[in-house]
Amino acid sequence: MIEEFVSISTLMICTFLSTMVVGIFMLQVWLTDRRHAAAGYWCLAMWVGSLCTILFALRPIGFPLITVGLGNALAAFSYAFMWAGFRVFDRRPLYLSVVLAGPVLWCGAYLLLRPVADDVNNRVILTSIIIAVYSIWMGLDIWAGRRHERLPTRSIAAFFFVTHGIIYSLRIPMAIAAPAELGHGTAYSAWFALFSLELFAHTILSAVAMLVLIKERGEALYRQASRTDTLTGIANRGSFLEDVQAHLARGGQGTLMIFDLDRFKAINDTHGHVAGDAVLKHFSARVSSWLEDGMLFCRFGGEEFALFAPRHDIDQAADFAERLRCEVAAMSIAHEGREIGVSVSIGLADVAAFGADFDRLQSAADNALYAAKEAGRNCVMRWTPSEGLADIAERMRVPDAAPAFNASIAG
Ligand code: GH3
Ligand code: MG
Ligand code: MG
Repeated sequence: MIEEFVSISTLMICTFLSTMVVGIFMLQVWLTDRRHAAAGYWCLAMWVGSLCTILFALRPIGFPLITVGLGNALAAFSYAFMWAGFRVFDRRPLYLSVVLAGPVLWCGAYLLLRPVADDVNNRVILTSIIIAVYSIWMGLDIWAGRRHERLPTRSIAAFFFVTHGIIYSLRIPMAIAAPAELGHGTAYSAWFALFSLELFAHTILSAVAMLVLIKERGEALYRQASRTDTLTGIANRGSFLEDVQAHLARGGQGTLMIFDLDRFKAINDTHGHVAGDAVLKHFSARVSSWLEDGMLFCRFGGEEFALFAPRHDIDQAADFAERLRCEVAAMSIAHEGREIGVSVSIGLADVAAFGADFDRLQSAADNALYAAKEAGRNCVMRWTPSEGLADIAERMRVPDAAPAFNASIAG
């Protein structure tokens, strides 16, 4: 059997040392950045767990109220704090009632029910239920968190906790089928060492998983920040280029639209720079809400934005851009009691006509945008290599429309 190679006390000492060390690391993570509230709970869980291991190791010396009663209460608290850590890690509601449920259930049963106080097998059954419930709940929470945040270690961490819960719950049939007997002042059963080994392995694996999850979250946030425009919160130019170029490299089609807000300097001059910022934020939020599946939208810089529509040919993109232009022209942005209007000029170029070289595509869309500005602003222009711009402009112009080019340009 396993205890021929490693004794339960050796496993307890190892569990005690590992939980202590991980607790120190967790404390360090929490002290470095208090936003890692989960690390605070996990630190508590580890240290409470290591105290519980000491009490368990001291069982042969007696004082059952401390070594058994308090020891198991601390074990329940340790899992409850771990559960709390995962709740705050995923910004889920944290219920004090759930944190207290396990420890209170244990204390109540141990102090009030004689069959629990007197029979180690009943105590095994009760603690196994408490630990299995917390563990499986944690595992399911971690797994469900994948929906809003895909961290690589989530799946394996969820697996560790669910399997730990299942393995722990196996102690219940074991306590019934092969009950432990008292000897040398402490309970003993052949399967105890096996479960102690699993507990030790799980402590190490789950602690590593927690630290790695914190690290992965940090990396994901930095990656996200490096891809985001700080003012508007939409993608920045770098991430947009990366995504569009990846799409083009896969042989993807689509149309590039470049937007430039009209006479934006005048908005700044009239209403102030802060109002200008508010307009940029409002504009990008509104366009973002109109985006269709697969579209990429970014702030190119200043008051220039870019949108790549991978599933739109030039005619469909022109329709889309025209609808968007009209929506923007109808927008009224409230800022400090004033209503600010804005319009946008849009230049289009498509992959079908200009190929997969992004620089070529961008310079064609820029040409179209420049033409839109020249044509009086608040309009959509497309650039084609074969047709002359004047010809297209002619097709797009609606006589007597003010401002120019505000008619649909589809077809
Ligand atoms: P046009 O219709 O020809 O595009 O005219 P415009 O005034 O929009 O263009 P211009 O290039 O002359 O001015 C762009 C202005 O955008 C100047 C700059 O101060 C302003 N701007 C650029 N970035 C920001 C920003 O982040 N916030 C604010 N408030 N203004 C910005
Ligand atoms: Mg500009
Ligand atoms: Mg402008």
